[in-house]
Amino acid sequence: MYNPKSSKAEEFISHEEILATLEYADKNKTNAKLIDEILEKAKLRKGLNHREASVLLACEIKDKNDEIFALAEQFKKDFYGNRIVLFAPLYLSNYCVNGCRYCPYHAKNKEMPRKKLSQEEVREQVIALQDMGHKRLAIEAGEDPVNNPIEYILDCIKTIYSIKHKNGAIRRVNVNIAATTVENYKKLADAGIGTYILFQETYNKQSYEYLHPTGPKHNYCYHTEAMDRAMEGGIDDVGLGVLFGLESYKYEFAGLLMHAEHLEARFGVGPHTISFPRLKHAADIDPKAFLHGIDDDIFAKIIACTRISTPYTGMIISTRESQACRERVIHYGISQISGGSRTSVGGYEKEERPHDSEQFDVSDQRSLDEVVRWLMQMDYIPSFCTACYRAGRTGDRFMDLCKKMQILNCCHPNALLTLKEFLVDYASPETKKVGEALIAREINRVKSEKVKSLTADYLSKIEKGERDFRF
Ligand code: SAM
Repeated sequence: MYNPKSSKAEEFISHEEILATLEYADKNKTNAKLIDEILEKAKLRKGLNHREASVLLACEIKDKNDEIFALAEQFKKDFYGNRIVLFAPLYLSNYCVNGCRYCPYHAKNKEMPRKKLSQEEVREQVIALQDMGHKRLAIEAGEDPVNNPIEYILDCIKTIYSIKHKNGAIRRVNVNIAATTVENYKKLADAGIGTYILFQETYNKQSYEYLHPTGPKHNYCYHTEAMDRAMEGGIDDVGLGVLFGLESYKYEFAGLLMHAEHLEARFGVGPHTISFPRLKHAADIDPKAFLHGIDDDIFAKIIACTRISTPYTGMIISTRESQACRERVIHYGISQISGGSRTSVGGYEKEERPHDSEQFDVSDQRSLDEVVRWLMQMDYIPSFCTACYRAGRTGDRFMDLCKKMQILNCCHPNALLTLKEFLVDYASPETKKVGEALIAREINRVKSEKVKSLTADYLSKIEKGERDFRF
């Protein structure tokens, strides 16, 4: 009954197939011959299926695990170079009618001050984000058909795109809102959103129903089939993720890859991104009350195995994780991170971090300027680029480019151009100094002489005040 092409959740995420996969992986966790064969297949850079990937995740042979991490690092370099794209979440509303047991926005939490940004407040938040240097946002909202109807989300998107403060602009709005109808996804596509992000939370139906006891989110199939509806509604780029800590990570990993395989089988294009949130402390949520927490070693291995199993998928890590954790996993395949984030509604224009309405505690509390400098000190190029989506390179067109490893030819100079904008408009003197040295080094790595000289020309124009160049 497992069928990756099916449009039914319980057929493309088959519980029986996951159990059989876990059994197979466990049986082969010390099978060096099979693990070698899978690693050889991985080296072809065409990805691995959920069974193969699950064997690698279960692998208990030290040398082979070292090889997995080395390969993940190599893939990251080959497909994404040393760029890391930056974004920030923007919390629009914490009104929510659901009863999710892990989320402090759950409807029964009467202590949580409920807030929904007015369009004027959205404007203030966006100006604060632009003044930090952000160009790409992920908007977040609880599910509440009365307080946060789709019209409200659409109004917010319109407001966000309309604000041009000083040299600032939000050039890509990704959207993380509850599962909705094809009709609503069409409206989001028409509003020019980037990626539609929806975390599955858990792929295990029984746990899912327990963890979402009340509200529309209780419906496992409706939630799991949301990405299909999003794609039917014309959204090219969708972002998957599970909330690690809710269920056994091996189960979730197999489910995640099956979901990616399903999108590829049904729509010819896999997920644009996969996010890696881990359950964190929040208002009335204690992560210790959940039995499936994972440590940093397992977390790193999940990230490395995902990198080599889905080489073309962007991978995201948020400020839920500490600087130390981010520093470790970034090398194994992360391509996007958030920086300077506030997870409370209206948190950006305040000096002090408001804690009472946060969705989860932020571990990495550094400013965007500090995050940018830190990345550069590790030899990464912080990128504020949004060119692909604005040039229509989304969905299968983006994947084609990525598969041909062409992304490096335009993404690398684009990263330098958007970093230059950040340095000129927003960076501290110290960050600017590190950044200018990095750009001077990195421009020599642009292969085509024509692109190199154009990049140099654009960089000097940015210095003189012009903005928004891209390849
Ligand atoms: N309400 C929307 C929905 O139903 O999908 C999505 C927006 S919600 C603001 C974003 C994500 O935060 C959730 O999908 C969940 O995975 C994550 N989250 C909730 N509680 C969390 C916690 N205590 N720690 C870490 N992440 C959490």
